[in-house]
Amino acid sequence: MFYSSLYTHYFWVTMIYGSAMAIFMVAYLRRSYFQFWKPITLFFFLYCLVAYAITDGLLIKQESTTQNRIFGYASSYAMVFSKLGHEKVNDKTRETDPLYLELVQMQKDWLAANPYIADIFTMKKDAKGRTYLAVDSETDYDRNGKYESDREQRTAIGELYTNPVAALKGAFAGEARFTTETYSDRWGDWMSAFIPLKNREGKLDGILGIDFFAEAYFWDLNRICFLAFLFFGVLFVGFVVSLHKHNRLSLALIEADKARRVKSDFLANMSHEIRTPLNGIIGVAELMDSSGMNTSELEKLHILRTSSKTLLSLVNDILDFSALEADKIRLEEVAFDLNSLIDSILSMFSLSAQEKGIYLRFDHRPLTESLAYGDPTRVRQILVNLIGNAIKFTSQGGVSVRVEREETPGQAPRYKVLVQDTGIGIHVEDQSRLFKSFSQADASTTRKYGGSGLGLAICKSLVELMGGEIGVQSEPSRGSTFFFSFVSKEA
Ligand code: ADP
Repeated sequence: MFYSSLYTHYFWVTMIYGSAMAIFMVAYLRRSYFQFWKPITLFFFLYCLVAYAITDGLLIKQESTTQNRIFGYASSYAMVFSKLGHEKVNDKTRETDPLYLELVQMQKDWLAANPYIADIFTMKKDAKGRTYLAVDSETDYDRNGKYESDREQRTAIGELYTNPVAALKGAFAGEARFTTETYSDRWGDWMSAFIPLKNREGKLDGILGIDFFAEAYFWDLNRICFLAFLFFGVLFVGFVVSLHKHNRLSLALIEADKARRVKSDFLANMSHEIRTPLNGIIGVAELMDSSGMNTSELEKLHILRTSSKTLLSLVNDILDFSALEADKIRLEEVAFDLNSLIDSILSMFSLSAQEKGIYLRFDHRPLTESLAYGDPTRVRQILVNLIGNAIKFTSQGGVSVRVEREETPGQAPRYKVLVQDTGIGIHVEDQSRLFKSFSQADASTTRKYGGSGLGLAICKSLVELMGGEIGVQSEPSRGSTFFFSFVSKEA
């Protein structure tokens, strides 16, 4: 019988959680065969232990709550019986005795008022020490309003009760007791509470018993087991599903990272291979003597020179970009003069600024001592890109460069370089995209001004490597100010 005793519940609870734990133990020990379980088997082993402890705790709690409630009823019934003079009823009492009938009626009223209880009765011991039933009312077990079978009829006073269970014997010894497992008699299968009845002098008069249908009693506990299993089961499945998803996601990320590396390596190798013949083309184009050429030939030579240079800078960008993606760039840490670095870049661009009819100047030189520590090649690369862009997108006014030195006590100084132009400007919504690879403010700029959209993405990665920040402030038609900073880690 599944409901026969509390121990049966512990048996099932232990069986279920125990097998779950055993499965996870095996999975853990043979984890090389269960890739997916590897990191979580131990966790689920502990999970089962905790779930077991909680279910167990709930069962004990429910049991003691039920029993305390019942002892509460039983004590109050016993008190009333003692007050009414139950001690006067014995195996000699006649069935028509008014006190006896009053007690029987009282039992019937209690039973009607408390459907959770199946039966209430009292027992005493005769002169020979045998247990007999004293007051036991008719009981409408099936609650159909009739006392039909022999089982539902009133038990005659003095009927001997053979084979009393341990809890009943305990109650006769003066202790309130509850049965620990289901027992059966001619009326049914029960779980019962027995409490001693006292006479007016406080001596043992007999016992008062309350029966519960074993099935109903254990159903409460079954329900708790069932709900606990359901709850922990659902939680378990939820964990597994989300871990499975997480697992798939991280596998996908690893794959994506691999693919990214393959792509970067491929790009780096290809760019490298393309660069060699391209340098040959550029070299030859530069060496070609243009003195005897007619206009059309000169134009073609110009196209050859500018196209090959553009191609080289694009290839260089791709090479840098893939090296940055593959974490292959190592920065230098040397001392360099930031002012003269900027001067040299500006003189490099001065011709193209002149051709466009715009100014190009170094506005602000606050540094009496402009020695910075870092990687001058990369600082130059960033500045060439920002100043080149500024000139490219400016047709009126001009471009100015400023440098600020930021000092925080206890920290390495930072340099902030600002490149301000009065060019076409950039819409706010486009500004955040600029620093992402292959992205340009507006697709139409590609057509008009060319470019790969890699320059600023490379700058951003380089600036981050230098422990600085890069950003832009801009307003369409009014111009832009690009700035970047880097930490000057003085040796
Ligand atoms: P590209 O090689 O295409 O110039 P960048 O990453 O250097 O790539 O620049 C990305 C885009 O940012 C440009 O195409 C342009 O739309 C915008 N941009 C950059 N600098 C400026 C600037 N000074 N003024 C206006 N737009 C700019």
